[in-house]
Amino acid sequence: MSTRADCVVIGAGVIGLACARALARAGREVLILEAAETFGTGISSRSSEVIHAGLYYPAGSLRARLCRPGREALYAWCAERHVPHRRVGKLVVATSAAQLPVLDNIARQARANGVTGVRRLDAAEAHSLEPALRCVGALLSPDTGIVDSHALMLSLLADAEAAGATLATHAPVESIECRADGHVLGVGGAEPMHLRASVVINAAGLGAVPLARQMGGFPADLVPTARYARGNYFALQGRSPFTHLIYPVPESAGLGVHLTLDLGGQARFGPDVEWVDEPGYQVDPARAEAFYPAVRRYWPGLPDGALVPAYAGIRPKIHGPDEPAADFMLLGPADHGVPGLVQLFGIESPGLTSCLALADAVRDALG
Ligand SMILES: Cc1cc2nc3c(=O)[nH]c(=O)nc-3n(C[C@H](O)[C@H](O)[C@H](O)COP(=O)(O)OP(=O)(O)OC[C@H]3O[C@@H](n4cnc5c(N)ncnc54)[C@H](O)[C@@H]3O)c2cc1C
Repeated sequence: MSTRADCVVIGAGVIGLACARALARAGREVLILEAAETFGTGISSRSSEVIHAGLYYPAGSLRARLCRPGREALYAWCAERHVPHRRVGKLVVATSAAQLPVLDNIARQARANGVTGVRRLDAAEAHSLEPALRCVGALLSPDTGIVDSHALMLSLLADAEAAGATLATHAPVESIECRADGHVLGVGGAEPMHLRASVVINAAGLGAVPLARQMGGFPADLVPTARYARGNYFALQGRSPFTHLIYPVPESAGLGVHLTLDLGGQARFGPDVEWVDEPGYQVDPARAEAFYPAVRRYWPGLPDGALVPAYAGIRPKIHGPDEPAADFMLLGPADHGVPGLVQLFGIESPGLTSCLALADAVRDALG
């Protein structure tokens, strides 16, 4: 079977859904093709669900440019659409004097990124906010929050559908041939077909690089190498003594084993960084051994046996363990010369926070 579509978005995670919504609202006829049985079962359902303020990212990077406006757009969206969320605030904590200059660097970076309201606290001020915390100093980021990511995706899908978009599930895109007169997509599933589309957005998350690798008519040298860094989470049994999110100063490939809260106030710790060859979601209970000392640096009162394996997510990295952190990669026609095609690679954190701003950037990249 062969059929036609105006605009195809590949992947119904938070990014694909936000793109579908932005394009449908801009007047395009949008078809979302999702390989799984429903939307939002990929990276987007396995994150920390934190609305990041935008403290850390290098000034001028796409992550810095999208996170702050994305965060404000997301708060406004959640308020308007009744998506459960809370601006809980976060503390980045130094647990030794040697880490204090790192806090100052983060504060400087935050200012350079236009993030306002970040405040340096001494140990006593931090302790008065969080009595269970041990630290020698902290940064308070009042605009960091948490969101129900599934409810967010549901709201984006509903708005996209209200603007005329359609979601097709069990519809894995298996091949793409980029052509001047419309891209031809090979779609598998129960009723395989070929689909011709004027515009294609590759928002396939962990599948984005593999899909781009076998695209005909796309410059192969622009496709990065996919790497996978699993992030494991452990849940805290019992009540959390904390009301803010607590982050240590960042590690090389992640933000350190931090404490996040869900909207019910339940605490979880993670994600750590475990480089893997293939995506897989099994949490090894033995990894808790490394969590206890990491958490006790800032919460010495963590009881023995209080951590239970929770879940894992996979970061869609496009840099290796010993390389500097890569930026989001958004490649539009101006970058690769193929009309009507946007490729999204390496959309890890803060992708959830940035989804609305990133979707606007995708729409703009199409011209
Ligand atoms: C451990 C972890 C913690 C994180 N924490 C945060 C956080 O606290 N705050 C934050 O802002 N960000 C966070 N992020 C980042 C954020 O979760 C991601 O940036 C975002 O969810 C990526 O969404 P996506 O739509 O690109 O990917 P996905 O949600 O994976 O969606 C891609 C979809 O494409 C589908 N697909 C794949 N291949 C094909 C194909 N060939 N054909 C059709 N469909 C296909 C998949 O089934 C999937 O549904 C975190 C990420 C991780 C891994």
